[in-house]
Amino acid sequence: MTSPPLLSAAGLNVTFPGRRGAPPARAVDGVDLDIGAGEIVALVGESGCGKTTLARTLLGLVPPTTGRVTFAGEPLSYRSRALKSYRKRVQLVLQDPSGSLNPRHTVYEAVAEGLRIHGHPGDEREAVASALSRAGLRPPERFFLRYPHELSGGQRQRVVIAGALVLDPELLVADEPVASLDASVRGEILALLLSLRDELGLSAMVVTHDLGLAWNIADRVAVMYLGRIVETGPVEEVLTAPRHPYTQALLSVLPESPTAPVVLTGEPPDPSRIPAGCRFHARCQALASGEADRAGVADSCRGTPPAVLTGGAGAQVACHLRG
Ligand code: SF4
Repeated sequence: MTSPPLLSAAGLNVTFPGRRGAPPARAVDGVDLDIGAGEIVALVGESGCGKTTLARTLLGLVPPTTGRVTFAGEPLSYRSRALKSYRKRVQLVLQDPSGSLNPRHTVYEAVAEGLRIHGHPGDEREAVASALSRAGLRPPERFFLRYPHELSGGQRQRVVIAGALVLDPELLVADEPVASLDASVRGEILALLLSLRDELGLSAMVVTHDLGLAWNIADRVAVMYLGRIVETGPVEEVLTAPRHPYTQALLSVLPESPTAPVVLTGEPPDPSRIPAGCRFHARCQALASGEADRAGVADSCRGTPPAVLTGGAGAQVACHLRG
């Protein structure tokens, strides 16, 4: 990524009030992240790590508590007219096509909805046909009058993607885009996202808990733990030679992993109780095994947070041992 990023987040924090007297939850806690034009970035982490909140913030659905989002060089404004125009350029693709589609709407109506919301001035039928075609539903007219229950899971997800494409966005934010699909159609949907990047120059951020999916689709990966990016870089570099112990643990449980599975011990992440020092230290195998101690960084692990990663395309890791 040598040209300026299409989307850039800088110093992003999103804090929610604590429930029943609990401290505030720092769901996103100091994130810098860039997405280049024509680039697919996978945002990876366990459930509850803040990746969905970060995605919603980048979409303008959640205003950051502090920090800023810049798109095509312009700061994102949260005034309603500016947001409406932004949401045309940055489209969300949700995980469960059955939940995203109204069962009473035909495919045509589902795809045309965005055009109507945004007052599309051109030929609606032509735009719907073109979007269905780009999403791989061809010939598009054959799908116009079908209802979601008459389609396969893969076809439903293509309709959801067509509904995003119909507005000619520059960036898709896809939240677990294949999690609800059979293994047999996952590959088709991932191939579709890759062809949209290659043929239309579309950028995407794919939010997933699955590093294997990141490997199949992303140019770059950002691994998130407890509200913060802890490792980022080109996908081959991060996934073939992971440095952060958390990334290593996530990779070790993939079926094709050459290393023994690392079982994460300790409490699962709680964004209202972020530990002192490295936020991963209570679960870190490098600290538990004595490796950090032998390297002379164990006190830092327990007492000093590793530096926040900056945006950009290069490989970076937030770890006293491996940074
Ligand atoms: Fe583990 Fe220390 Fe690195 Fe944190 S900073 S991941 S505790 S080695």
